[in-house]
This record gives sequence, C-alpha cells and structure tokens, in this order.
Amino acid sequence: FENILEVKNLAVSFQTFFGEVEAVRDISFNLKKGSKLAIVGESGCGKSVTANSIVQLLPKPPVLYKAGEILFKGEDLLKYSNKQMMDIRGNKISMVFQDPMTSLNPTMKVGKQIVEGVRRHKKISAKEAEKLAIEMLELVAVPQPERRIQQYPHEFSGGMRQRVMIALAMASKPELLIADEPTTALDVTVQAQILDLMKKLNDELGTSIILITHDLGVVADMADEVIVMYAGQILEKGTVEEIFKDPKHPYTRKLLAAVPKINMEKSEVLHSIEGTPPDLYKPPKGCSFYDRCDQAMVICRDQLPELENHYGQHCSRCWLNHPDCPQGGAKVEG
Ligand code: SF4
Ligand code: MG
Repeated sequence: FENILEVKNLAVSFQTFFGEVEAVRDISFNLKKGSKLAIVGESGCGKSVTANSIVQLLPKPPVLYKAGEILFKGEDLLKYSNKQMMDIRGNKISMVFQDPMTSLNPTMKVGKQIVEGVRRHKKISAKEAEKLAIEMLELVAVPQPERRIQQYPHEFSGGMRQRVMIALAMASKPELLIADEPTTALDVTVQAQILDLMKKLNDELGTSIILITHDLGVVADMADEVIVMYAGQILEKGTVEEIFKDPKHPYTRKLLAAVPKINMEKSEVLHSIEGTPPDLYKPPKGCSFYDRCDQAMVICRDQLPELENHYGQHCSRCWLNHPDCPQGGAKVEG
C-alpha cells in the first residue's frame, strides 16, 4: 500500500440532549506510508475527533459515524469489531496525548508499563521485554534507562514523562503514530526536543505520523503535509511548502499571521483571530468561515465552496479561489 491510511468522506456527529453536533463534516485525506501529516486548527474544529475516529477511542454512542471510510492498509477500520480494534490500537496504531497521565499508570513503574504494553500484543519473554523497555527509553533519549525503568511516572519531569509516553507508544513498533497536541503543555525548548524525537522515529523506524496541533508554527519544521481544519471541515490542504509559501485560504493566512516570529515583542504576537467558529448543531449552509472573514461575499453566505484543487496536492475551500467566483463580487457590509 502506498497510502497507509485513506480517510474517505468521513462524517462524525455527537448525540447530545439538544440534538446532533456535526463535529466532522466530509473529511477526506490520504497519508503516504512513512510520511508526516499535521492536522491544524483551533479547539473544537474536529481535529481530535478525526484522530480519535481512526483508533475509535470515543464511545459510540454518543459518537455516531454518519458516513465514510477509514482505510488502514486497505481495510475499513469503521467495520472492525471492538476486539479487532483492540488488536490494532496500541499495536499497529499508537496514540500519544497532551497529558501523559492519560496513558501512563501512576501506580506502576514505567519499565513494567512498557513491558506489559508490549506483551499484550506480542509473545516475548519477560527478559526480552525488559531489554526492550531499556532500548525504548534509550531511543527517546531518557538518560540512565536501566535506573529509570524502576521509577514511577511522578519521578519524571513533564518533558521526560512525555518521552516515556512516546516510548510506550513506540514499543510495539506501530506503523502509525497519532500525536494529539503532544507538546502543548511543554515549554518551547522541550517542545522542540519532542518534535525532533518524533522526526527521528519517523526517519529511523519509518513510522508514519499524524500530528494534531493548534499551532501552525510547530508544523513548519516537522510535517511533510498539512491539513487546515475549521468547523469540522478541511479548508486547505497541501504540502508544508504549498501551505507556508502560498497559503490560499483566508483562514490559513490568518493562522500564519498569528505564528510568533523570533524577536517579536510579546504584544505583537498576540493578534489571534477575532470571532468564534460557527455552532455545529446547525452548521452554516455557506462557507463556515464567513462570520470571521474580511473578504466575505454574498455567495459565501449562501453556497458552500467546494474543496478545489489548485496544483500538486494543494486544495482550498474558498470562493475567492473558485473558477466561478463572482469577480469583484460585492463584499457583504458589516
Ligand atoms: Fe471568506 Fe468567502 Fe472564502 Fe469563506 S468562501 S473564506 S467567506 S472569501
Ligand atoms: Mg483536541
């Protein structure tokens, strides 16, 4: 398989007391084997729901898979039973989260956790498993691994705990690693180290990676491809070069403008994007960015723009980039 993952027209809703929230709306993307994809967007844009759908960590109900396929090496994970998913999760596909304590057991020594994680899926002796635990801590650059495997999670600093979680996730030699905001809680130096570590794992082990982040700044140096999500939809996707050098969507441009530059005064950095995303109980029929867009036209309010291909892999969903754009189209006042 050239693509380790193919997500096709995925739609995911949440059942709530007040009705259904359309959290993910018609998402399609491919992940090439060995490649690194970043999914970027503000909180609530559906990026975590997309990631969680791949491993099906969210309980159904309230989660409803309304449409689409998630093909992992050609097989639709949405058709898998719980038992089949348990064989995949933490084995062929692993996840790391913002908070390591969601994956780590506070009452168990970290070496034992890695050993048990691996032995859940593979038959290896206790001795081999311990050797593997040491190797994994070495791989993620935790110093003195022989001593460290005997310690509990609270004995590690935040950054080191994040490394332990990645070691745990990587111990089964997954083909796909999904990292949901893995560095958000860490300071910039440690953040850079963790991202470097993920690049190294990709390089040396060929692990395909999906990185979920709200910060376009962290993907520049890390990802091969980028998806920009907003209000449950993909607004733009392309290679990291296409997105950074030639952003096509007004939202992507605003996200890029919000990325802090080195030597910038703090006051200059904090021009985040004004306004809030639309309510997904009743998604807008037109462009979901309409309320916050400086360039909005009448057509944007009334008709959903398609995800249009520009060149290469570069696509965006905006009337300005559409061949049928009403040229010089009247902007909506107010
Ligand atoms: Fe702005 Fe219209 Fe493009 Fe939406 S479709 S981003 S409202 S110009
Ligand atoms: Mg999230």
